[in-house]
Amino acid sequence: MSNLPSEPEFEQAYKELASTLENSTLFNEYPEYRKALQVAAIPERIIQFRVVWEDDNGQLQFNRGYRVQFNSALGPYKGGLRFHPTVNLSILKFLGFEQIFKNALTGLNMGGGKGGADFDPKGKSDNEIRKFCVAFMTELCKHIGADTDVPAGDIGVSGREIGYLFGQYKKVRNQWHGILTGKGISWGGSLIRPEATGYGLVYYVQHMIQHASGGKESFTGKRVTISGSGNVAQYAALKVIELGGIVVSMSDSKGSLIIQNDGSFTAEEVRLIAQLKVDRKQLISIATTDAFKDKFQYLDGARPWLHVDKVDIALPCATQNEVSSLEAEGLIGAGAKFVAEGSNMGCTQEAIDVFEGHRQKNLDGTAIWYAPGKAANAGGVAVSGLEMAQNSARLSWTAEEVDQRLQGIMTASFRHGLETAKEFVPQSEGALPSLVAGSNIAGFMKVAAAM
Ligand code: GLU
Repeated sequence: MSNLPSEPEFEQAYKELASTLENSTLFNEYPEYRKALQVAAIPERIIQFRVVWEDDNGQLQFNRGYRVQFNSALGPYKGGLRFHPTVNLSILKFLGFEQIFKNALTGLNMGGGKGGADFDPKGKSDNEIRKFCVAFMTELCKHIGADTDVPAGDIGVSGREIGYLFGQYKKVRNQWHGILTGKGISWGGSLIRPEATGYGLVYYVQHMIQHASGGKESFTGKRVTISGSGNVAQYAALKVIELGGIVVSMSDSKGSLIIQNDGSFTAEEVRLIAQLKVDRKQLISIATTDAFKDKFQYLDGARPWLHVDKVDIALPCATQNEVSSLEAEGLIGAGAKFVAEGSNMGCTQEAIDVFEGHRQKNLDGTAIWYAPGKAANAGGVAVSGLEMAQNSARLSWTAEEVDQRLQGIMTASFRHGLETAKEFVPQSEGALPSLVAGSNIAGFMKVAAAM
């Protein structure tokens, strides 16, 4: 019996990784890596702190702040900050653990970490967000540094919050350091950083499609169901549209917008949704407007997966455990052949089992390709790594240069996962290589060797 409190999300992420390593030949070839896994499961350091701030009514408010400095074998701890009322240590440990191996897959020198607070930005004024960020960084600034730990955004933390956080670091420490990524362009940010996770996800799926079709197919004409409407979902949708794909859904925590006919969300509609987010409004507030009501159906309280028919690709881009086994079955029934997570641990283990159970090719040669978040959504942190490189060099690269490097990193992440699966995962005749096992093994091997 363990004397540790239960941490369901972290245990899920750990078991998911550990089971793929166990079911491969890795530990036969490298027995010492079994111990490396046990060691890697324990964060190097966890920092917990109190965040006290004052709301617009002059009332004292308080939250719990955290930074999990999980693994620094490959470089400074790197990973986002999440501000959401559900945040607790189990969630941050799961995210930090995933981040270690995701960062390894980028090929850049970044360790893994994650942090955040149980602060709910919804309904807060700009002034309250600023006061919270200032109070949060007043504590966090004692523990981070450009060569120590470099946080970024995640759910509830975007450019505005990074600005307030960065300003406070600079004020307290009296030093301009690249201690956060996702900064504004004029003060050390990288071009393409806001777009990077969504674009990278689509670049990754392009490789899946091309590999599966022997180079014959692309996004053109493919129907894509997307969940979420935040930064990842928005840029994934825009890139899909740019590449000629058809976006049939987007969603938020309250409901889904589903296309009613053969059309697609347009880039203009995605930008309207992005503006809605800036104004901190829900999708429901546009669902009944003239621009949306004829073309879209709004489903209150529903995720899109069981409400889209005829889809080729599913991109969960909202939050963890947003695809159940039932929904995975539903997506396969609707025709999905490619599933790639823009969110971290977007699928439950049961949903992964459903997708992985369909790696065996059907009579018509089709099967399901499933890509885990740690490989498919690594574009965000990859461009964070490029932002760190630009900061160190005191240089700014062009958008084309950053995008080119991002594409190269996503290509390498796909190929590395694929080749590693072929090398270490026993598989039956006529089955696709497991990208989830291959990516886990590839990321883990790099970290274990460095440890
Ligand atoms: N939060 C993002 C992720 O889950 C980005 C982290 C970063 O840029 O450091 O990968």
